[in-house]
Amino acid sequence: MGTFDNFVAQLRCPRCQRLSSADDSTGIQTKLRDEPDASWFSVGSQLSFDLHRVAESGYLPVQPAGQPLRLLQIWSCGHCGKYPNWAEVVIQGDRVAAIEAVPLDLATLDRIHFIDEDVAYFVAAHAGRELADVPYAEIVPLLRDLLKCSVDLSSG
Ligand SMILES: [Zn+2]
Repeated sequence: MGTFDNFVAQLRCPRCQRLSSADDSTGIQTKLRDEPDASWFSVGSQLSFDLHRVAESGYLPVQPAGQPLRLLQIWSCGHCGKYPNWAEVVIQGDRVAAIEAVPLDLATLDRIHFIDEDVAYFVAAHAGRELADVPYAEIVPLLRDLLKCSVDLSSG
């Protein structure tokens, strides 16, 4: 309980341009597996989970899941402290196919299937709303509206 696994990769910070270590310093946590045990998953790792439970595992659905499955995760820079940064995790079958730093923009949103539910904090803050006043189902539509207005969700 309370445990999670980590995605790990060398990610370039969009603010300081330095590369992260491929370890849990980026803080990319996931509860995709039924019994996470603080394992690290990198590109090429085998990762088995129930596709029907992704939305109950700390992710908001953006569009119907496809293959490969694309998740957008939050990460933080261990060098300059930048948070949030964003990373796209691509899972092909039961393998991690890619973990890459990406901007959170409309093109990314149109491509991904699920987004880290912690995005809700930033959506509410940028929308000038209290998090508690934003219904769960409105978060992704509100995010899309903000991105259409070129709001930079990367500014903490
Ligand atoms: Zn940085």
